[in-house]
Amino acid sequence: MKRNYGEYFNVAHIELQSRIYGPGTRYVIWLQGCSLACEGCWNTEMWSFKAKDLIHRETLLKQILSATDIKGITILGGEPLHQESNLLWLLKKIRRQTNLTIFVFTGFEEQELQSQGLLGQLLEVCDMLAVGRYISSQRNTQQQWIGSNNQCILYSANSREKQKQQSVNEVEICINKDSSVRMLGFPNEELIRWVNVNSSK
Ligand code: SF4
Repeated sequence: MKRNYGEYFNVAHIELQSRIYGPGTRYVIWLQGCSLACEGCWNTEMWSFKAKDLIHRETLLKQILSATDIKGITILGGEPLHQESNLLWLLKKIRRQTNLTIFVFTGFEEQELQSQGLLGQLLEVCDMLAVGRYISSQRNTQQQWIGSNNQCILYSANSREKQKQQSVNEVEICINKDSSVRMLGFPNEELIRWVNVNSSK
C-alpha cells in the first residue's frame, strides 16, 4: 500500500546517532505511517498517515551526507515501504555516493516483498533487510535487531555488513534537555518499569 507525499518523506523521528539499530553507529530514520497493525506494536503513534514532519528527499539526502561519525543508515517505522518510491530513490543515492551501509526494517514478509516486485530492488541497495510482522506471542527481547522470533534478517549478496545477530538485549535511554526520558529499542518489562519509576522522580 503506497502513500504519496510527492518527493517528500513523511518522517516520524530521526536519531542522528544510535548504536542499537544495526552494526556500529548509525543515522536512524523512522518513517511515519503503517497499515500493518501488528497486535502489540511498540510504535502505534507511527501508524497514522497524517503528515508529521514532511522532509524533501533531497534535503534528507543532504542531511545524511553531512552526518559525521556514522557507519551507516537505518530506516524503520512505521512502515518504510509505504513510501517505497522515495525510499528506493534515497537508498540508491546513498549506495552510489557513499560507503555508508544500509539497513531497512520492514513488517512485510519476504514472500510479500517478492510478489510486489520489491525484494530484488531492496537487496540491490540494502546490506541488511529485517523482514516480517511483529507477533507478540513470539516476542523476543534477547535477540539483537528483531522484536519477535518469526522476524529475520536478510543479508544481500553484495552486503558489506558481516556482523551477525547476537543474543543480547540492547536499548538506549536518552535523557532530554527537559529531563524527560526517551527509550529506544525493545526493552523487557523490568526495564520499562525501571524507566517509569525513575522518570517520574
Ligand atoms: S509493521 Fe512495525 S510499525 Fe507497523 S504495526 Fe507492525 S510492528 Fe508496528
